Amino acid sequence: MSEMGNDININESIRKLALTEGFDLCGFTNLDPLVNHQEHLDRWLKTEANADMAWFHRNNDKRINPKLLVPEANAAIILLSSYYQEPSTISEDTTSGERKSSEAKIAHYARYKTDYHDALNQRLISFSQRLNDQFPEAAIRHYTDTGPILERALAHRAGLGWIGKNTCLIVPGKGSYFFISVLFTSLNLSSDRPIIEDHCGSCVKCITACPTFALIAPRFLDARNCISYHTIESKKEIPQHIAAQLNDNIFGCDICQDVCPHNRKPYTTKSIFAQSIKDLLDFTDYDYENLSHERFLSLFRNTPIHRTGYNRFMRNIRTYLSNKTNSL
Ligand code: SF4
Ligand code: SF4
Repeated sequence: MSEMGNDININESIRKLALTEGFDLCGFTNLDPLVNHQEHLDRWLKTEANADMAWFHRNNDKRINPKLLVPEANAAIILLSSYYQEPSTISEDTTSGERKSSEAKIAHYARYKTDYHDALNQRLISFSQRLNDQFPEAAIRHYTDTGPILERALAHRAGLGWIGKNTCLIVPGKGSYFFISVLFTSLNLSSDRPIIEDHCGSCVKCITACPTFALIAPRFLDARNCISYHTIESKKEIPQHIAAQLNDNIFGCDICQDVCPHNRKPYTTKSIFAQSIKDLLDFTDYDYENLSHERFLSLFRNTPIHRTGYNRFMRNIRTYLSNKTNSL
């Protein structure tokens, strides 16, 4: 067998293993510096579009050049995990008896009874162990939404999708509701072929749908104007111009993904991320308004909402409720 044929067999065997371990898609890329992303990153930071997320100023040499982060690695295995389930009634206006369910919305990725960091970490540990069974010491280090890594850029280069004008990785035929994990390996794997075409074409739906004009240009998101940033990351009060356009979002925002034509039929998960927080299904505005710290912990412990914390979550709820009152 040719060396190339051998490479392909190794890749396919690892891809098969990844799917067996619960990942939905798997791709491979080399660790050449992501030079095409340097200018964008510099401009994003220079214009302070990172808001007060100071960590984006650190380790940018490693973001651009993953070899500096994991010198002993020779390739990256990129693993996607879907978090989308059919529209949950968490955000729907339903009436059950006398109780009118709240219209408050929680972003898709945070509607589950588990923190995706923990769940994916478990999945990655198991995958790493099985990879090492086949190729001793192949797995070096893995990340999900942690560490100075340009995950979407690596996933794009690994042939898994293209980066849409809403800045998300879009998988052809499957949409953008995926977590991206990166496993660095000592194996010399051949890279998958990146998608060169920009399948966004002339579409600008995400840009025009963003209620707070955070997408100031294609693929350029100013966090200072983003509802996700203000309801998850920011420790300050929500500024009035964002609060007024909250669109019932109390944790995160999916608007620029929901309007994307490539998410018309998103790939749906059947994994652990399909188990939503059932108690929220018939939560009313009154329940949110009177949510005690104790109930918050029992509902959200081990979820991304717990990381944001009770005080900030209640800040978001107050803003949502105040909008409701003002619109009466
Ligand atoms: S997440 Fe919401 S606020 Fe942020 S860019 Fe997308 S649509 Fe705009
Ligand atoms: S809404 Fe249109 S422009 Fe935006 S990411 Fe989707 S296809 Fe691209």
